[in-house]
Order: sequence, then structure tokens, then C-alpha cells
Amino acid sequence: MPAIELSHVTKNWGKFYAVDDLNMLIEDHAFVTLLGPSGCGKTTTLRMIAGLETPSSGRITIGDKVVFDSEAGINVPPNKRKVGFLFQNYALWPNMTVYDNIAFGLKNIKEALPRVHAEARQASEMLKALEKPEELAQLVKDCQGEGGKLDKKRALLHLIDRYGISTFTAEKLLAYKLDQAADPATTAADARKSLEAVLDEAEKSAKAQGLSFNADYEYLRDGVTQTEVRRLTKEEVDRTVRQVGRVVKIGMFMDRYPAELSGGQQQRVAIARTLAPKPQVLFMDEPLSNLDAKLRLEMRSELQRLHLQTGATFIYVTHDQLEAMTLATKICLLDNGTLQQYAAPLEIYKRPVNTFVADFVGNPSINFLPARGTQDGEGTFQLTVMDHYAMRFVPESALDQAALFQEFKADQAAGRDRQAQLKKENADQLFEVPVARVQAPLLEDDKKAYDNQDFWIGIRPENLTIGDEGPLEAEVYSVMPTGMETTVKLRVGDFLLTAVIFGSILYQIGDKVRLGFKGQQAVLFSSLYGRTLCLGKVEVE
Ligand code: ATP
Repeated sequence: MPAIELSHVTKNWGKFYAVDDLNMLIEDHAFVTLLGPSGCGKTTTLRMIAGLETPSSGRITIGDKVVFDSEAGINVPPNKRKVGFLFQNYALWPNMTVYDNIAFGLKNIKEALPRVHAEARQASEMLKALEKPEELAQLVKDCQGEGGKLDKKRALLHLIDRYGISTFTAEKLLAYKLDQAADPATTAADARKSLEAVLDEAEKSAKAQGLSFNADYEYLRDGVTQTEVRRLTKEEVDRTVRQVGRVVKIGMFMDRYPAELSGGQQQRVAIARTLAPKPQVLFMDEPLSNLDAKLRLEMRSELQRLHLQTGATFIYVTHDQLEAMTLATKICLLDNGTLQQYAAPLEIYKRPVNTFVADFVGNPSINFLPARGTQDGEGTFQLTVMDHYAMRFVPESALDQAALFQEFKADQAAGRDRQAQLKKENADQLFEVPVARVQAPLLEDDKKAYDNQDFWIGIRPENLTIGDEGPLEAEVYSVMPTGMETTVKLRVGDFLLTAVIFGSILYQIGDKVRLGFKGQQAVLFSSLYGRTLCLGKVEVE
């Protein structure tokens, strides 16, 4: 499976930049989620990689193949990019059975495919099944109905499922009638002899042509697979339909029509249909958004499993941060067409690069505490937090604030800075750091001009402690127990902080409690640049 690389990819409609100068390497086998608020450019990015949208400029490679290059005038159409799509509206054919829905696309494939000795391949599959004749016999016996009559359809499904074979091969296995044999081992031994003869014959004829076989009975010449332009055989189509059906657990619904399936089952059929042609890259645009909460959860774990089983690269669009966090190996977080951060989910959660990222991931959201002060000779920040409290912020490692601010300033001047980029075109959607207060200040007060001494301290709700001990006095403002954990809003002066505690400890609104900070996971942001300075520890004087 290939890696995908985007270099300086931009899509603009006139002055509006849906995606602006995107650079990203999607590694082989990755499960990347494109995450961001509505209209941030997720779908446009996905469509450009897939070939459904033409970038205004830039270059995209899939594996070692350049699929788009604005300067070289290359634009490979979607059907030549070996990619699969799964969209929110998966539209199955209502007049076709599940089987035909999945098989439909496969029947139309006509391309360079490996040359196969079909008879030998089938013989080798049957030989594998016959290795354990007792087990095979028992499997069929278990499908006898009342009065010992064999339920043939059920037996076939079991054989297909157990051995990963096609219906045709399963029928041949069934024809040995091992379940009725007095001694299945002897019957199987006879069968094996004639199958081995088929393999011998195939090997001989291949050798005569200077060819050999791989384990799947595809012809090799000097170790290289031989191909021919052809359609898939009926047997191959069936085998593939059965295999993908097994992966998404719809083997038993093959004869039903879409209307006879639940939403989740239909969605699984859609996934099977997309997987059947074995795409190297699978694009999914909010594929679960039509499903209810429980099914979504179930399908998420299915997708995770599928990603492992297929080994394909998955690119997944969502605006649901929980979905992105739980599924992805890497998250690409976009806002207003610009890349904010591209990293593993927990890295994004723990080390957000700016205030937007910190706010966007995490539920409940991170607390932003306004702070003002300077760095002392030791490197510690001496701050007045929430207009009143003297606190220290101790960086986890040495930090040169002046040098970092120089860097931020240079980035801003060069337009590499998030705020500078946003101001360029899409100014109507500027992000404001949300500070929760008991009473929202008047609008005029809100428009504060920040300088080098203004900071935000970002603290995740789980890093606040509530109890009898703690440096700050707080009052319980609201309590929301969910059973496993409890979200508590606390009033500190005029400000509201959100804490999450494990279990369902009961506080009453108005209770006086002590509040503390734990761990090294607080984040210090510059208010002037909106960017992260460092992680560290908060101490109250
Ligand atoms: P959502 O989560 O709401 O689907 P998204 O992040 O997928 O949003 P895109 O569909 O990529 O967003 O759109 C990005 C921006 O580009 C949006 O502001 C959209 O209005 C704009 N856009 C998309 N297509 C066009 C078009 N054909 N002409 C002009 N603007 C467009």
C-alpha cells in the first residue's frame, strides 16, 4: 500500500481559499482522520486526493505515482488512482440482492490481472479443507435439520465461512458427502489423491512452458507474476464477495434486498462493496453520520478491525472529534483551509500547538485561564491568573521566551502564522479563546489588545482536583454525573472552571470546595500569538 504526499496543495475559488498550502505525508497503512469544524476544507482535501476535485495548485503523489501536478499538467482521473470511496449516502441498488450489490463492481473490472490456473487453485483450497476430514464432516453434520435432512444452504455458508472459499468450491466439497461416510478419513484420502494429481499435472504443464506458481496458483516467470488483461472469473467474483462479506459479517444476508436490512447492516454492505475491489486507499466521508449512537460505536470498532485486516490506507473525514481521536493513527486538524496540527491523537490532545487546537479536541473542553506576567531568571513564569491569583508556571524544560517570541513574530511576518493566514481571506471566522465567566463581560471589555505579557494557561478538566485540600477556594456551580464520571463546574471568583472526576461523587450546588492542579500537563499559550509556549506545572503562591 502506498504513502500519499501532498505538497503545497491549494484550492481556491476566486479569493476564497478552501484549502491553503497544505503539506502532508500520509504514511503507508495509516488511518488518517481529517478533522475540523464545518467548512474548514476537509471534504475538499479528501476529494482532491481522490481526484474528484482539481486543486488550483500543488502536487499529490500516491505511492511512487504523481497523480496531480499543476506545473507538469498531470491529473490522473479517479478511476485510475486505485482508490475506494465510502460516503454518508451509500445508496445501495434497491433492486439487487446484497450479493449482487457487492458483485456488481467486480464484474465490470477489466484490467491487468494475474494469470491463474483456476483448477489448481481450487484443488489446493479443497486439499486444505480435507486436511482435517473429521472436522469437515462435523461441520456439515451440524447443518442437519430435523430428521437428519441436510440444510444445504446453511452448510454451504458454513464451509464458505470456515475455509474462505467460493460457493463453487464449497459445493464440490459438499459433494464428497463426508458427513455420511462411515469413515471420513478414507473418503478424504481418496479425494486428496485425485486433487493432488490435478496439482501435479498443473505443475508439469507450467514447467514445460518455463513457468512456476505462487501459493495462490498464479503463474510466475523468474519469480515475477504474469498478468493478462481480463475480467474476473465467476469463481473469483464469488470468492471475493464471500470474503468481504465475512469480514463485515453479512454472510447470512447475501440473498436479501437492501430494504430487508437495518441501517447498520446496509452500511456494512456498502463497506463490503467498497472493499471488494481491494482499493489501496479507502476514502470515507462521514460514513457513520446517518447511524444512531450505539451503531456508530459498533461500526467504529468494525472500521478499526477492517483497517488492520485489509492493510489499506484509510482517509476519513469527520467533524466528530471523538471519532477522530478513537480511530486515527494520525489526525489532520484543519481550520479555515489551513493545517493546524498533524499528529497522533494523544499528541494533539496533550501538546496542542495553538489555542484553537487545544479548544477543538477534548470533551469537556480545556479550561483557559487568563494570566499576565513575566518569566523570571530561573525560567519560571510569575503570573497573576484570573485577575487575582498569584501563580507560578514552571515549564517542563528550559524555555527561552524571548527567542520563541522572535520566532512567532517572524512566522507572522512571513504569513506562516495561523492568525496571519486567517486574516488574509476568511476573516469572518476568527477563533476567539473561550473564557467561561459567571457573567459575560460587555462587548467593549472583550476586545482586549494583548502584549508579550499576556498568556493563557490551558488546563484539561481531568487535571483539576476537587476536595478538602487545595490552594484555591471554589464554589460548586453545577454537577453532571454520568455514572462513570462526573463533570463539575466550579466558580472561582468571576470565572468558571470545568473539572471531571472519576466516579459519581455527589456535590451540591453551592458547596464550598478546595481546588488544585495536578500533573505537568498544563499548557502555556501566548495570548498575543495564540500559540503554545510550553507544557508545565501550575503552582499557587
Ligand atoms: P463540512 O464538515 O460542513 O462538510 P468541510 O470541512 O468538509 O465541511 P468543504 O466541503 O471542504 O468543508 O468546504 C470548504 C469550504 O469551501 C466551504 O466554506 C465551502 O463553502 C467552500 N466550497 C466548497 N465547494 C465550493 C465551490 N464549488 N465553490 C465555492 N466554494 C466552495
